[in-house]
Amino acid sequence: MFIAKEIQTAAYLFASILFILSLGGLSSQESAKRGVFYGIIGMIVAIIATVSGQGVEGHVYIISAIVVAALIGLMLARKVEMTSMPQLVAILHSFVGLAAVLVGFGSYLDPKTQLTTEIDPINGLSHAEHMIHLVEVFIGIFIGAITFTGSIIAWGKLDGKVSSKPWSFKGLQTMNLVLLLACVILGVLYCKEDGTGGMIYLGIMTAIASFIGVVLVMAIGGGDMPVVVSMLNSYSGWAAAAAGFMLGNDLLIVTGALVGSSGAILSMHMCHAMNRSFFSVIFASGSGNGSGGEKKAIEGEVTSLNHEEVATLLKEAKSVVIVPGYGMAVAKAQYPIYEMVQTLQKAGKKVRFAIHPVAGRLPGHMNVLLAEANVPYDIVMEMDEINDDMPTTDVVMVIGANDVVNPSAQDDPASSIYGMPVIEVWKAEKVIIMKRSMSAGYSGEDNPLFYKPNSEMLYGDAKVSVEKLLGFLRA
Ligand code: NDP
Repeated sequence: MFIAKEIQTAAYLFASILFILSLGGLSSQESAKRGVFYGIIGMIVAIIATVSGQGVEGHVYIISAIVVAALIGLMLARKVEMTSMPQLVAILHSFVGLAAVLVGFGSYLDPKTQLTTEIDPINGLSHAEHMIHLVEVFIGIFIGAITFTGSIIAWGKLDGKVSSKPWSFKGLQTMNLVLLLACVILGVLYCKEDGTGGMIYLGIMTAIASFIGVVLVMAIGGGDMPVVVSMLNSYSGWAAAAAGFMLGNDLLIVTGALVGSSGAILSMHMCHAMNRSFFSVIFASGSGNGSGGEKKAIEGEVTSLNHEEVATLLKEAKSVVIVPGYGMAVAKAQYPIYEMVQTLQKAGKKVRFAIHPVAGRLPGHMNVLLAEANVPYDIVMEMDEINDDMPTTDVVMVIGANDVVNPSAQDDPASSIYGMPVIEVWKAEKVIIMKRSMSAGYSGEDNPLFYKPNSEMLYGDAKVSVEKLLGFLRA
């Protein structure tokens, strides 16, 4: 059964409103679940309205594909660990990019998008419409191809399959500029061709754009990956919007623009939080602010405590700050950590969490995990809210965090994370660093914090360690 065009437009409008409400809901933890619910309803309305639209054929294939894809999605969502979410998000972005490329080629070859001719004066497009369509296809494929290969490299970097170190060389910027220019020239030649004669130019441009996607993301170091993940999210939105133009689907244009602009805004916020220039990250003009010269020698000695000694320190402390990081997510330590927090609170201690904006592997990673363990929001502080309190804090427990508490970001211009704001844990009376070894964080930089006189290591898996501490605290 087909629905009238007007009903489809009304359904698209309704779905667009739900998507906007969904984005609004996702902007705070309290309303996030409601936001996800709006998004699901909006997508169901959108799919039904599209599939039952006039002129849609092959319903059996479409519905079968939707069922198979939904089952794969369900299985993946159940199986994927929270720590592997960024990789999943990155690979999903690559699908959007690939879809835009395929839609672009399909649309270019579609007889209905050709110019009207004397032989067929009814079915084609006018000159102006045809030119606009050609440009839409070209831009759509260009953005789609960059998103596709860039997201695959991002997936590889986040999954440890590709080194997280930046891959760059002198002249990279110039090369990117020349490639971009080559694409513009190819675009002009392609627009001049009749029929499907521009395929060759479209093919070469796709290859060049795919290469640009690879080098853009390869040139970005581990420290800047959060921005890249959200930037690729934005690109995938623009690729979807471009596909919407090619298919003449208003909802896809609106949804793509929503994803594209919200991803770009998030990227700008993250750049601001990490003290990075938006354009230097996007155009890969060297990762980080570091000068790349000789690194500062680390002075001091590493000392460690056992669990009982740390528990004693906690019993004596009046104020405690917990700084979680990626290791907390790996160990799934958030549940015993909250039990420990409640035990300390019952003993009259002031306990708070300090969250760095890029702690973990995706924006908001720590907030989601703490919310999962029912940690109340009023004891979860942002980095800027808590840094001033560090000098009056008795004990800071750094649990599975590393880069986000690395003082080199402030005092070693040669470090790749130089300039990134960090949680100044070393200003507290005592710092306990809970991790399994002396190994570096995601950026690959050594951490002088471990060598400071007021720092003590507590080796072991974060969850096992916290459970042991709990035992001593309750004894
Ligand atoms: P880091 O990656 O800097 O450090 C995590 C530490 O956790 C490691 O040094 C590791 O040490 C320790 N660890 C791992 N497993 C365990 C475990 N089971 N128990 C205890 N400790 C463990 O994490 P941070 O959160 O401090 O910083 C995030 C980094 O990731 C930043 O560089 C950021 O830029 C980057 N990033 C962030 C993204 C985001 O959006 N938030 C996205 C992509 C990258 P050891 O092996 O010795 O135990």
